[in-house]
Amino acid sequence: MIVFVLFFLALGLVVGSFLNVCIYRLPLGQSVAWPGSRCTSCGRTLSWYENVPVLSWTLLRGRCRTCHASISWMYPVVELVTGLLYAGLFLVYGLTPLLAVRLLFASALVVLFAIDAIHQILPNVITLPGIVLGFLASFVVEPGWTNSLIGLLVGGVFPFLVAEGYFRIRGREGMGMGDFKMLAMVGAVLGFPLVWITIILSCLLGIVIGGGALLVSRRGLGTRIPFGTFIAVAALVCVCWQEPAVRIYEQAVQGYLRWAGLA
Ligand SMILES: [Zn+2]
Repeated sequence: MIVFVLFFLALGLVVGSFLNVCIYRLPLGQSVAWPGSRCTSCGRTLSWYENVPVLSWTLLRGRCRTCHASISWMYPVVELVTGLLYAGLFLVYGLTPLLAVRLLFASALVVLFAIDAIHQILPNVITLPGIVLGFLASFVVEPGWTNSLIGLLVGGVFPFLVAEGYFRIRGREGMGMGDFKMLAMVGAVLGFPLVWITIILSCLLGIVIGGGALLVSRRGLGTRIPFGTFIAVAALVCVCWQEPAVRIYEQAVQGYLRWAGLA
């Protein structure tokens, strides 16, 4: 058991290293497969011992060996988070086909989180294949294709209608198209009600963290909030604590129905 946990931790660290390449290169429109890892400052190709996840960054004290340009702390953090996610998801799902889907999904969420935080964009090259792959995978693993289709529509269409209404009333955009595509991807992979729980949770995060940040920065409400980062965190919570999330949601719905005298 512990051998498998360590294996998935190591796998996640290595994948996280590749996700860093995606996070850096995708917004620039560069290939993620070629060339190998380079120092983004002097362009020198990194040798294998400078590419060891987390360890290299720590030993080099976050600096390039040649040009001494500082290397962002984001790199080891992404590697560590991905490693912990992989080990954690193995513990939740075991060695099942569903684990493979969940690992791929979590990797996409890590990349979307970082790119949205840095550039305020959610690239189509991740969200659109994510929708298709999530739907196709649902023919083999949960939530099943009908539930996946419902999740896809709830994630992609419902928030779009809300945002469209907001746009008609307030005359400005609350969410971007990227957010809808990302939620459609979450819906296709997780189905209903998990996509709905993701939407509720990301809105709560947006209100608490986004609202707090606006208060601190004292900027107007027109400031663009990277909502994709909240969707990513909420979806990762749903993936790691799938059963408790659904249980709490169902209890809340039943509690509400009783309170409203409907059940
Ligand atoms: Zn350098």
